[in-house]
Amino acid sequence: MSDMPFNTSQNFIAGEWRSAASNETLSLETPSDGTELTRIARGGTADIDRAVAAARDGLAGPWGRMTAAERGRLLASMGRLVLDKADELARLEALDVGKPLRQAKADALALARYLEFYGGAADKLHGETIPYQQGYTVLTLREPHGVTGHIVPWNYPMQIIGRSVGAALAMGNATVLKPAEEACLTALAFARIAEQAGFPAGAINVVTGLGEEAGAALSAHGGIDHISFTGSVATGTLVQTAAARHAIPVTLELGGKSPQIVFADADLDAALPFLVNAGIQNAGQTCSAASRILIQRPIHDALLGRMAERYRALKAGPALADLDLGPVVSGRQQEIVEGYLAFARKDGLAVAAEGSIIANAPKGGHYIRPTLLAGATADHRLAQEEIFGPVQVVIPFEDEADAIRIANGTPYGLVAGVWTRDGGRQFRLARAIRTGQVFINNYGAGGGVELPFGGVKRSGHGREKGFEALYGFSTLKTVAILHG
Ligand code: NAD
Repeated sequence: MSDMPFNTSQNFIAGEWRSAASNETLSLETPSDGTELTRIARGGTADIDRAVAAARDGLAGPWGRMTAAERGRLLASMGRLVLDKADELARLEALDVGKPLRQAKADALALARYLEFYGGAADKLHGETIPYQQGYTVLTLREPHGVTGHIVPWNYPMQIIGRSVGAALAMGNATVLKPAEEACLTALAFARIAEQAGFPAGAINVVTGLGEEAGAALSAHGGIDHISFTGSVATGTLVQTAAARHAIPVTLELGGKSPQIVFADADLDAALPFLVNAGIQNAGQTCSAASRILIQRPIHDALLGRMAERYRALKAGPALADLDLGPVVSGRQQEIVEGYLAFARKDGLAVAAEGSIIANAPKGGHYIRPTLLAGATADHRLAQEEIFGPVQVVIPFEDEADAIRIANGTPYGLVAGVWTRDGGRQFRLARAIRTGQVFINNYGAGGGVELPFGGVKRSGHGREKGFEALYGFSTLKTVAILHG
């Protein structure tokens, strides 16, 4: 990036770029060809200690003294800088994560939108007055938690940093961000842009490193007042356990096995692109990917056929070639997804269709053919577990009750889509499905800066995005004044 960073092997702490205390670095791979892209700092406990102390100092300094309007203005300025640099950010993300350029650009624009949205919202969250006993005035104050920790995954770094760090800053918290070790460049670019926008030292600190080192140190740190974690159920459970030792609040945005449910009366032409795109976007590495497609029996075969036709046209290749899909993020992720596909074949699931990998895709890249599976029962392993790759499973259903039972029949509850023209059914399904979001006659995998987002069951708890996030990133103080 022309004016950016950056020495990618440094952390951003207290407004300064510094190597890890250990001076060690880690290799960052480009998934499109498997070569080393650059090196990043191997941050650990000492770096997290410094970052948390810097955030605490930030709260005691100019950042902590800013008014809500001033914080909002800074966020808005940063949003404009992100817009100016959207192409550069998209290229960085495409190289780092492997997502096609257009999808990476959409993420950069979403980051700008989060900064605009939370910039505008910073001074809009008001307290209340509460009628109480004679002689009292009681009011509530919205206050920042203090120092907030943010652990994010590799699949949508810019979007998740925007929604999480953006909302925390709007409320006046000082933040420590730990990006995933597979994808750090846009997190570092975020710090660089914050510096250019004029954020005071300590408001934003970024420490790169391994999850079990820097991530574990952050979630166990006694100096943080809140932690926001986005990632897998297994790690989220560790983070919540560590946070419980200090009794601090936690937001968990975890995985999913989200269904799109298509009734026989649906507008199939409208549904079709959403059905497929929401499964293969970002090579299926999306927490809210529509990885299960439930189709009502009378239209099952015809709609499966139309989906298969689309699948056969899908192409995977290097991120900069900007095809339908890039590679998955790492060799490890490739092995996991290929393991699921091998199991599906062994277990007799029908491969309804596959896309292709372009002929000149680099050998070392982590490419997977997008695969549409059919003939699975609702309790099949591939219909229950999060695969996190370009694989969708089609399941037939009989009637409304059957659809609800299947939709709710996994450990997850993140997002659902319902396609039907029946107005009454739209409302019944919206209420009966246990998820954090339901889309009727559309599907928004991760979309909508303004829309509160989060899960129930194993998909997590707490809400990010929208105005709702501002409640999560603040605490309420009740002030009772006895004045007679
Ligand atoms: P992951 O849990 O392996 O890693 C996520 C983050 O946690 C990374 O920054 C990692 O370094 C860190 N980490 C790893 N071990 C840690 C530890 N012991 N202590 C603290 N931090 C640690 O998840 P992943 O494989 O990177 O991401 C994929 C998962 O994330 C999927 O399950 C996906 O559904 C979920 N996800 C959810 C959302 C959402 O908003 N609900 C969004 C994106 C991804």
